[in-house]
Amino acid sequence: MMKPDLNTGIRYLKGVGEKRAEAFSKLGINTVRDLLGYFPRDYEDRRNFLKISALSAGDKACIKACISSDIKTRSPRRGFTVSEFRAVDESGGIKIVFFNQKYSVGKLFPGHTYVFFGKVEERAGGLCLLNPTFEEEESSGQKTGAILPVYGLTAGISADVLRAAMRSALAEFSQSIPEVLPEDIRRKHSLAHVGFSYREIHFPTSEEELEIAKRRLVFEELFILSLGLMHLRGRREHELGTPIKDSDFTPYLNALPFSLTSAQRRVIDEIATDMQSSRPMNRIVQGDVGSGKTAVAAAAAYLAYKNGMQTALMVPTEILAEQHFKSLSGNMEKLGVRCALLCGSMKASEKKRIKEKCVLGEIDFLIGTHAIISEDVEFENLGLMIVDEQHRFGVRQRATLASKGNNPHQLVMSATPIPRSLALIMYGDLDISVIDELPPGRLPVDTLIVNDSKRADAYAFIKKQLDMGYRAYVVCPLIEDNEDGEAELRSVEKFAKELSDTAFYGKKVELLHGKLRQKEKDAVMRRFVSGETSAIVSTTVIEVGVNVPEATVMAIENAERFGLSQHHQLRGRVGRGSAKSYCLLFSNVKKTSTAAERLQALRETNDGFKISEEDLRLRGPGDFFGTRQHGLPELRIASFMSDMKTLELAKREAVAVAERDRTLSLPEHKLLRERIREMFDVSENGNSFN
Ligand code: ADP
Ligand code: MG
Repeated sequence: MMKPDLNTGIRYLKGVGEKRAEAFSKLGINTVRDLLGYFPRDYEDRRNFLKISALSAGDKACIKACISSDIKTRSPRRGFTVSEFRAVDESGGIKIVFFNQKYSVGKLFPGHTYVFFGKVEERAGGLCLLNPTFEEEESSGQKTGAILPVYGLTAGISADVLRAAMRSALAEFSQSIPEVLPEDIRRKHSLAHVGFSYREIHFPTSEEELEIAKRRLVFEELFILSLGLMHLRGRREHELGTPIKDSDFTPYLNALPFSLTSAQRRVIDEIATDMQSSRPMNRIVQGDVGSGKTAVAAAAAYLAYKNGMQTALMVPTEILAEQHFKSLSGNMEKLGVRCALLCGSMKASEKKRIKEKCVLGEIDFLIGTHAIISEDVEFENLGLMIVDEQHRFGVRQRATLASKGNNPHQLVMSATPIPRSLALIMYGDLDISVIDELPPGRLPVDTLIVNDSKRADAYAFIKKQLDMGYRAYVVCPLIEDNEDGEAELRSVEKFAKELSDTAFYGKKVELLHGKLRQKEKDAVMRRFVSGETSAIVSTTVIEVGVNVPEATVMAIENAERFGLSQHHQLRGRVGRGSAKSYCLLFSNVKKTSTAAERLQALRETNDGFKISEEDLRLRGPGDFFGTRQHGLPELRIASFMSDMKTLELAKREAVAVAERDRTLSLPEHKLLRERIREMFDVSENGNSFN
């Protein structure tokens, strides 16, 4: 038999049979390596032994106590048992209660001493310890008396099972985890050894050791990420693009019905400079909602057209594609740019006609959804590709579109303002332009915080807006991927129905939620754009980028559940027309809480960049972007927000390594290459690191 190593299947471990292995695989854990890389979500400090007399309600505490009464188990109703007894130490006694744990309670005996860990609660007869974990005094240290890891679990894998498997994997394999960080970097930044770090991140000896372990693993992850991004970028730097010769966009400016802001002008200049170079453009344009990114994208398309190249603009939804097509084609056609729309739901004959024209070069500017990356779409000479709402697309989809041209210039657009320092790293493979100015004359959106006592008034106010022909969004945050998702969804459905029967009586109210198919979402949005529907009750973030000038109200229920940046995105859906708009934040949070402070920050500014920095300050480690950040690999331990400092250090070291060995082909960098390949999941996104 081969010697077991990190790639050995998880079944090798004691206590992991076929069934458990299957359950583990649901957590993405198939090998010993996967298991060791499955980091705790949190920790429980079970070291603190308290005297019973010192306990108070709400504590999570360890006590060492002797069972001083009989253990009584009763069954108040079928399938439900309550076991109770008293336990004492030298300071006093407490009641201990277990629900539905007949089996474990069977392991306890009166007169014996155990270590119990659990939550202290106030009940009718005084304090009690509810459903504690316990172990015998002599063997304590496995479940109590230590800092224990808390892992994400799944059916069939309990906390105890996962901890036991982790312990045995660490005992046997922590010595053989290869050191991926170069020795000099490790020394320079006093980063702990890899084996130590893995042991301590799972079963910390103390807070200090946990910190040391964490710092190293965070550094490692961000270092690999930075190197990977640079590697991607480095490869593109050596590609040859098609430089444009004519970079005069004044005819485009003259055709526009408005004059551009100076920020828009500056960004178009940056784009024109890129396109004149023989290296293909790789630029991201970051601009707050409503800052006018579309006009910038169109300028680039105009330059491509003047230089005999075709442009493809890809957007995430059909409705957005239609909007872009409508708003752009008028002006562009005047300038001679032949525009066309391509969406999946169009008639087959129509799609066929567009594709034929596209391959013949009879279309200069193709606007569409994912449909434009399907295999049978070909271009005569695709010189520029633009991706709008970039976070909705993966790296692979971008690469597929790019492969339809010969190293086309690439422009991606993002409406998520993030602090510049962060952007530099997150978009490590792109140059960054920022549109930091809104077109003049926008009416600021009035933002109000509404508590329950004002709820009825607020809804009456919204109804008045609807009666005047305006439209409203009502957002109910919903955690869709937990077990209760279904129940929550039903409650939102009920809420929507209630609104249409009472507060919004006589108006059409529709529900938009994440479980709908894209086609259905598009249909709902279309009816809202046309005015057939007056209000949308939505559980998820409303379709990005869609412009509904008549929408004047954004009402957000349980507003404290959203991060600032999400709020800002939502608020950006209104205030797009000439009418005064309102953002109503429903929340009952106390005036002094951080949640209230956050909502207050929203009232004070409309600047997305300021808001994102405030978000960073207030939320720290919170998940800023949602789970998947902008098509970047998922991070397992580091956070773009709370680990900014480490991120900068790691990036600097990555630059130094890449300068010495651009292709990472030195033998000592072999492991690094492997790790980058793993992190960027090559098979999925088609970037090769060979
Ligand atoms: P976003 O950056 O969110 O994609 P859009 O490109 O959709 O914003 O622009 C929002 C609105 O502002 C559109 O109706 C557009 O025509 C208008 N707009 C863009 N630039 C200007 C400008 N410089 N002056 C006036 N209106 C503008
Ligand atoms: Mg847009």
